[in-house]
Amino acid sequence: TKTINKIAAGEVVEGPKSVVKELVENSIDAGATSVTVEIKEGGISYIRIMDNGSGIPKEQVKTAFLRHATSKMSEIEDLEHIFTLGFRGEALASISAVSQVEIVTKTRNEETGTFLEISGGEIKNIQDTSCMEGTTIIVKNLFYNVPARRKFLKKPATESGFVSDLMNKMALGHPEVSFRYINNDTTMLHTAGNGDLKASVFYVYGKEAANSMLPLCYKKEEYGLTGLIGKPELSRGNRSYENLFINGRFIKNKVVATAVEDAYKTRLLIGKFPVFVLSLEVPPSQVDVNVHPAKLEVRFKNDDEIYDFFYDAVIKTMEQQIL
Ligand code: ADP
Ligand code: MG
Repeated sequence: TKTINKIAAGEVVEGPKSVVKELVENSIDAGATSVTVEIKEGGISYIRIMDNGSGIPKEQVKTAFLRHATSKMSEIEDLEHIFTLGFRGEALASISAVSQVEIVTKTRNEETGTFLEISGGEIKNIQDTSCMEGTTIIVKNLFYNVPARRKFLKKPATESGFVSDLMNKMALGHPEVSFRYINNDTTMLHTAGNGDLKASVFYVYGKEAANSMLPLCYKKEEYGLTGLIGKPELSRGNRSYENLFINGRFIKNKVVATAVEDAYKTRLLIGKFPVFVLSLEVPPSQVDVNVHPAKLEVRFKNDDEIYDFFYDAVIKTMEQQIL
């Protein structure tokens, strides 16, 4: 099973960024309102995620690191009703199979918290400890036991760039969570977490961008879309300012990107792309999130409907708010 775990880990754990992503998603699933992410050497030697979420009950700490251990799904049919960011119970198992992990966690009702150390999938130490409610996970020396994978990690500066992009997306997707992101002892991002999306845009893209966004709120049947779209003059030279979240998860989707870009087409210069931060809430049964191991892509039940929905939402917003 050790080998199987290491191989399977490759799907979920590509590098520091995917580790951070999975752990931060766990924090959000645990109801955290404050999440600190610290990395060193691009996250290759050190990643620390600290949250004030629900914590893991003492008797569940060990099992949380077993493959397919998830507290978030009881039945297979639940796959149709996924509201949490995690659901496959693979992240902790995969990460701990290929690194050295320490976790300190405590639920509100427990007197003492739990400390667990696990390296290469093997439990090294477990004991009671005193700590605050919530969870802190430290991941050291990623792929220390998989040289073939370690070799393919990029330079620290490149890996930390990936993590920075991710943290920006997290901040934009979860304005209700206060994020602090520290890279090599320097605070790179610190959001208020007061739920104001415009404030998140300010932290991530700066003042000019924050002041050039139009609020969008559009509903049709079971689709609900909210967020901010940039005025045409805010357009950028690439697609990296196009942010789509579906049920709280950052997603790349061609149909949506095309619909929004088409709606902007008559208002943008050739080769320019819109800036937007849009959150779609849909019944989980309308999207299949299980097409990509890192859950970065989705397949919609009805692409035409989704295209029209996004196109109309953007056109109407611009018609109403731009003269
Ligand atoms: P998944 O998120 O798919 O359930 P993970 O491997 O990411 O699987 O996590 C396993 C389980 O560990 C989760 O279902 C959850 O119960 C628990 N867990 C992980 N991280 C946290 C956290 N930060 N706070 C509270 N519980 C957590
Ligand atoms: Mg998870």
